[in-house]
Amino acid sequence: MSQIPNSLHGQDIANILHPYTNAVRHQEVGPIVIERGEGIRVYDDTGKDYIEAMAGLWSVAVGFSEPRLVEAATRQLNALPYYHTFTHKSNEPSIRLAERLVAMSPARLSKVFFTNSGSEANDTVVKLLWYYNNAMGRPERKKIISRRRAYHGITVASGSLTGLPVNQQDFDLPIAGVRHLTCPHFYREGREGETEEAFAKRLADEFEALVLAEGPETIAGFIGEPLMAAGGVVPPPATYWQKMQAVCRKYGIMLVADEVITGFGRLGRTFGSDYYGIDPDIMVVSKQLTSSYQPLAAVLISDELFEGVAANSARIGMFGHGFTTSGHPVATAVALANLDIIEERGLVANAAAMGEILQKGLASYADHPLVGEVRGAGLIGAIELVSDKAGKTPFDPVGKAGRYLFERGHEHGLIIRAIGDTIAFCPPLIITQSDVADMLARFGRALDDTA
Ligand code: PLP
Repeated sequence: MSQIPNSLHGQDIANILHPYTNAVRHQEVGPIVIERGEGIRVYDDTGKDYIEAMAGLWSVAVGFSEPRLVEAATRQLNALPYYHTFTHKSNEPSIRLAERLVAMSPARLSKVFFTNSGSEANDTVVKLLWYYNNAMGRPERKKIISRRRAYHGITVASGSLTGLPVNQQDFDLPIAGVRHLTCPHFYREGREGETEEAFAKRLADEFEALVLAEGPETIAGFIGEPLMAAGGVVPPPATYWQKMQAVCRKYGIMLVADEVITGFGRLGRTFGSDYYGIDPDIMVVSKQLTSSYQPLAAVLISDELFEGVAANSARIGMFGHGFTTSGHPVATAVALANLDIIEERGLVANAAAMGEILQKGLASYADHPLVGEVRGAGLIGAIELVSDKAGKTPFDPVGKAGRYLFERGHEHGLIIRAIGDTIAFCPPLIITQSDVADMLARFGRALDDTA
């Protein structure tokens, strides 16, 4: 089908440069055109159904056919389809959403800045930290510490915080002033005989040593996903966050929780920060905020940060940062309806309950000869494939088995994600027990085809 030039598939090949795609291979295999969605399933243009075990891109909390979100968007489009929020302008949905986000977020966060995407939100974080430290008369305090395998987006600044080679190679990233620590992955980075807690201590010691080597007065912030997702689903080792947080506090380093994936119930608590006991100075949310029916992200900041930024904006004449669509009325109206649904249907509790079933189901594959590690928390899980279980030996080339299994998944009506040879699961929060069973059965068949 992909060869017919004026078919939809042919037009795709002719006209689109796809994100996160091998552009040469795409010319041969063409697109899978998704036409519609219903609940946790999507359907392609041949009518084939897939369980969307990734909720799109870790993002569709309420499923793919929620009429209340359509109604909320339609109502707002009729009332006020667009207005900006520059120069004192505002709109009701963005006011109500900011109020709601502040109320539900960790206690120290009191102001909201809206962007369209997680990448823009993390770019905003970098700029806020720079602006704030200039305002406070500390122009040398600009460096930001992240982790290898972190994912914080792909713009110039957020792509620098990201710790994945593919996002930096030949893009001339990272920018100056960004440092990356060891990924907190016990299975890959833990040493022989080391406990999880000792591993966490070693990583916090590494953090402190880096801060001292760079000069604490030069470090503006530390950013982390409560549970690393796009870098391979890495739950932190026990006590990791308490220890990393203590280093931040000791040296006055702003702690940024990137909750773009973990926000709004993914781990069975409202935020990943609740789940791991993180008390951030800045929190970034997106994706499940609108179930990605509309592009929207938000940066929540502490009073301390706001006051520094506000004073500087008064000195300069304005806070010179913002997007045409910051606080878009339709996106924020959809977010409000989406948060209503998450609350009314108890989807955070459902994520906790279904998460337990998912983790148990994934653990049942632990003895499989191709499975090196099963890991996850709440309603996010992963299976790492290895060529040799005892030696934890990766496949050569890395990603070969993951890609094969990903493609077998499609044949069995399952959309999973292959991150190298790690297969990720992150289904919509509305998933039921029988859906989890169906999803794992499809996965089992794809795994059997791979073995
Ligand atoms: N931060 C995290 C933790 C993410 O997982 C992502 C996207 O997956 C981003 C930021 C970037 O978000 P976006 O793709 O909306 O720019």
